[in-house]
Amino acid sequence: MNKFQCISCGKPADELYRDFKGGIIKISHCSSCDEVVDKYIEYEPVIIYLDALLLKLPAFRHILINTVQTAIWKFTLVILLCEAFIRLLQDRYAKVPMAGPIKPDYVFYSALEWNLYYNYAVSAGELMIFLMAVVTVLFILQRKRGGGPQHPQLNIQLVVRALIWSNFGKVLVIPVMLWGQTYSAIYLSLSRAYVLACYVQALRVTGPASSLLEAVTVISIGSAVQWGVMACLPT
Ligand SMILES: [Zn+2]
Repeated sequence: MNKFQCISCGKPADELYRDFKGGIIKISHCSSCDEVVDKYIEYEPVIIYLDALLLKLPAFRHILINTVQTAIWKFTLVILLCEAFIRLLQDRYAKVPMAGPIKPDYVFYSALEWNLYYNYAVSAGELMIFLMAVVTVLFILQRKRGGGPQHPQLNIQLVVRALIWSNFGKVLVIPVMLWGQTYSAIYLSLSRAYVLACYVQALRVTGPASSLLEAVTVISIGSAVQWGVMACLPT
């Protein structure tokens, strides 16, 4: 199995560059589209992450396929904490709809609230249900389709890592909530919609659901299962 992917067309590639002796490095070109396999290896990380924020598939391919990701579990803990904090704010504004903007130090005081830890556990459960539902749907999709070189094989570890990483949009909500002038549920809705869009892009580069329609369908089913299971649980 090829380790890398062309970020333009998604075809497998053996290498991103060739290191000749004497410090000479030659960037590899894709055998399918003839573009540079991964132009981002020469870019600053800020540019790469800005392109990922804009949901560009090449940036997703570079980050999820062509880069070794470490500490994904630490990232998961941070993401769950962000999600728990967002839920805490939602509860606060649900109880007092006319409450003014929160003070920045609320983020520290929130650590004293029992609900934060309860929300943390709920967020972890939700994420797990969503991941299991998506992987199951992808597995069924692959079984139905059968093998073949034209369809990428399901790599569960890669898909799970990509979906977890796609939650990075949740981190952006925290500064908006803390330093925004007014509270608005629209920030939270937008952040959730953005995360769903990131999920779709992540599936298109890592999963066997490579078309936009397939990826949207799989994510919709995963979200529906997650919502259904959470709705059935006692609160
Ligand atoms: Zn290519």
